[in-house]
Amino acid sequence: MPRIIFMNDRLVPEEEARVSVFDHGLLYGDGVFEGLRSYAGRVFRLDTHLDRLWASARAICLEIPLPKNVVAKAVNDTLAANNLTDGYVRLVVTRGAGSLGLDPNRTHNPQVIVIADTISLYPAEFYSQGLKIVTAATQRVQSAALSPRIKSLNYLNNIMAKLEGLRAGCVEALMLNHKGEVAECTGDNVFVVRSGKLLTPPPDAGILEGITRNAVMELAHAAGIDCHEATLTRHDIYTADECFLTGTAAEVIPVVDLDGRTIGTGTPGPITARLTADFHKLVRQ
Ligand code: PMP
Repeated sequence: MPRIIFMNDRLVPEEEARVSVFDHGLLYGDGVFEGLRSYAGRVFRLDTHLDRLWASARAICLEIPLPKNVVAKAVNDTLAANNLTDGYVRLVVTRGAGSLGLDPNRTHNPQVIVIADTISLYPAEFYSQGLKIVTAATQRVQSAALSPRIKSLNYLNNIMAKLEGLRAGCVEALMLNHKGEVAECTGDNVFVVRSGKLLTPPPDAGILEGITRNAVMELAHAAGIDCHEATLTRHDIYTADECFLTGTAAEVIPVVDLDGRTIGTGTPGPITARLTADFHKLVRQ
């Protein structure tokens, strides 16, 4: 069935949803996006995703041509138009069409696009058995070069690392920052459990501050699990009792092996299981 896409001011069939070949989103990856999820007909933390989209846009001097409430409605309308109650939403804002030069001031008509689809989760055994991942040689881009806190349309840094992971037979790969500290995975944030305490890298490690990450930190506090942001190295993951990743698409997913080193017992641990269950409850509240 052809999907229904929101483009700027209306819902159109998939085949009518087109952008210009001069759009700087296409030519330069100049634009921003969000990935959201709806559970039982409600979008999880819609306002937080919109705030992050607006922050990303502000950081690149891109003025989103619609107010937040209109974009919020567009997200819900697109899900409804595609009969999706449990779905994944990709919200994209491009710089708009311009000349072949870089100058963003010579572009016009930023495109606001909402795509809703069914969510393709990792297979169930990845959750029950845990992921094996590797460290990518590709470093996470330095904040001084391009802040990883901007969720921009230019994801080549992550894609280069993802390619390394895939070539090693892994669906995710760990990315370190320029100091050799743990940053995040290519599309997920990282947590470790050590002696009953939860640790995750701070935003200034060069990460996207994940909305799932922040929700899991809140759930940990509510469950009485000590949770802190801390600078981590691979050593902390190799020697952790548990490790898991968080992201809108993956939710909470255990990691049981990094670079061929078994983490903890080599099976998903109890704190990961507890937070996974709490997260599933939260998204359906
Ligand atoms: N890091 C990166 C690089 C990502 O692309 C994502 C997914 N958007 C995340 C972390 C997880 O963020 P969230 O929980 O907001 O989906």
